[in-house]
Amino acid sequence: MSGTVLTINLNNLTHNYEYLRSKINAKVKLLAVVKAVAYGSDAVQIARHLETLGVDYFGVAYAEEGAALRQSGIKTPILVLHPQPHNFKLLLKYKLEPGIYSKRVLTTFAQFCMDNQQENFPVHIKYNSGLNRLGFSDADIPIILDQVEEANLSIKSLFSHLAASEDKNERPFTMQQIKRFKQFSGALQSQMMNDPMVHQSNTSGILNYPEAHFSMVRTGIGLYGFGNDAKYDQNLKPVASLTSVISQIHEIPAGGSLGYNRGFIAETTIKSATITLGHADGITRIYGHKKGFVFINGQKAPILGNVCMDMIMVDVTAINCNEGDTVIIFDSEHTAAALAEAAGTISYELITDIGPRVKRIITKK
Ligand SMILES: *Cc1c(COP(=O)(O)O)cnc(C)c1O
Repeated sequence: MSGTVLTINLNNLTHNYEYLRSKINAKVKLLAVVKAVAYGSDAVQIARHLETLGVDYFGVAYAEEGAALRQSGIKTPILVLHPQPHNFKLLLKYKLEPGIYSKRVLTTFAQFCMDNQQENFPVHIKYNSGLNRLGFSDADIPIILDQVEEANLSIKSLFSHLAASEDKNERPFTMQQIKRFKQFSGALQSQMMNDPMVHQSNTSGILNYPEAHFSMVRTGIGLYGFGNDAKYDQNLKPVASLTSVISQIHEIPAGGSLGYNRGFIAETTIKSATITLGHADGITRIYGHKKGFVFINGQKAPILGNVCMDMIMVDVTAINCNEGDTVIIFDSEHTAAALAEAAGTISYELITDIGPRVKRIITKK
């Protein structure tokens, strides 16, 4: 194929898992978020490895993602964070546990369980503590209790999601979210027979808000090696490295142009290298026009002009390189977080964008 490879280092995953574990009390459970192909890597390989490490739960966004893990033999409980009524049957078939976030989803799921003679189906109740994306409000407590009783659902956890746990300036807002969630979970628990788990923290919640660890935490980006803060990044190891190849080298004289729409015009004679990945592989057009860069033989080469679908062109005027040489887009040293930030986005977006055409290689080195 193109020679572009995403190398997934499972030893780094182990390191990050252990680091995040070390940040939480031994009694606190850890849910590994493996949605979106484990943040653009390889959901099955990542989940299998985390299962051997003893992870307590997996989290996915949609039911199909959970079904794929079950089909690959994953046995650990799986929480589906954003289930949709049109495929509730997958939850049943694959023993996936829905995060119930609205009256509509609650009543349709309760009816679904009754229609299918399901008793004690495990569910998780999602509270909107301030993100205003998904979740119940305080006023919904009576209907939650009512439907749970009617359909005999088993509430395994109460959870919520922080809006800005990585942002120090938003500490007062986050503290407010934690307070609101405690009130909601306390009120529900006081009217329940069983004792559900309680969870609110994502990676930055784990690192910045120990008071919000409760009985479980949900970590995604941290497992993949990013802590949304240079001070935490030091202790984490990026799991994925993206490398590619120089396919051709051109000399462009002063005044010559490069790429579609003549996106780059040479002011002096330059040397450009064409690399075998483009926006179809996840290097979106925002990385063009020198916002993004790659590394060739240890030196930084900015992306020139417009990113193409299957290729980018980079400036190698000052770099000693040849056709066929390896190109580093990101790795442990030249991080995806730094590249994303340079182009005005975040590590989450860059790593989850890596397309299916890029070959995945698993290593333990
Ligand atoms: C994606 C997601 C997470 C993981 O967040 P990270 O910042 O990657 O740790 C946790 N909880 C919910 C509800 C999510 O959607």
